[in-house]
Amino acid sequence: MKNTELLFKLRNATEDAKKVHADLSCSLGFYFGYPSCCINEFCNDILHDKDASERNINGLGFIPCRKHFIEISLLKININDLIKNRVCQTPYLAGEELQTK
Ligand SMILES: [Zn+2]
Repeated sequence: MKNTELLFKLRNATEDAKKVHADLSCSLGFYFGYPSCCINEFCNDILHDKDASERNINGLGFIPCRKHFIEISLLKININDLIKNRVCQTPYLAGEELQTK
C-alpha cells in the first residue's frame, strides 16, 4: 500500500481506530526499544492525521521524532545509538521490525 493510500485510510478512520493504532504503535515502539520521544511523536502524528513517513530513514519500522531525524540526517548520531532497553531479543535491523513499505 502506498503511503498516500494509507494516509487516506487513516484520515477516514474513526477516532477509536486511531487510538487503537496509536496504542499498538506505542507498545511496539517500547518492545523494539525506540526512544520515548520518537514513540510519542509518531503516535501523536497518527492521532492528528499527520504523515510521518517522510521521517522514515531506512524503510523499516522505526520512524524517529523530528529532532532525532535531523540528527540522524546530519550524521550526528546513528540510529543504533537510539535503540535501547529493547524487549525484543533480536537485534535492530536483523529482520524483526515491521516493514512499512
Ligand atoms: Zn526522538
